[in-house]
Amino acid sequence: MSAHVPAATELSRAQYSGWACVFCSARLGKGAVSVGRTEGRVGSVDLSVEVYACPGCAVTFGFSRQGGSQ
Ligand SMILES: [Zn+2]
Repeated sequence: MSAHVPAATELSRAQYSGWACVFCSARLGKGAVSVGRTEGRVGSVDLSVEVYACPGCAVTFGFSRQGGSQ
């Protein structure tokens, strides 16, 4: 299970495109961590997309590239 990743419809363009942290909007570079897919729908359009977090937020929100699901 994952923490509360914002819905796709709540993301900025940068967040949606994977350029910014989905939690704090920091510009992402090396060390960005995938936090899985977030879902959203506008009318009949499915906006679900894979999103990323900066290393700090990945730790804060319990996502980590290492250490498996714990
Ligand atoms: Zn962040």
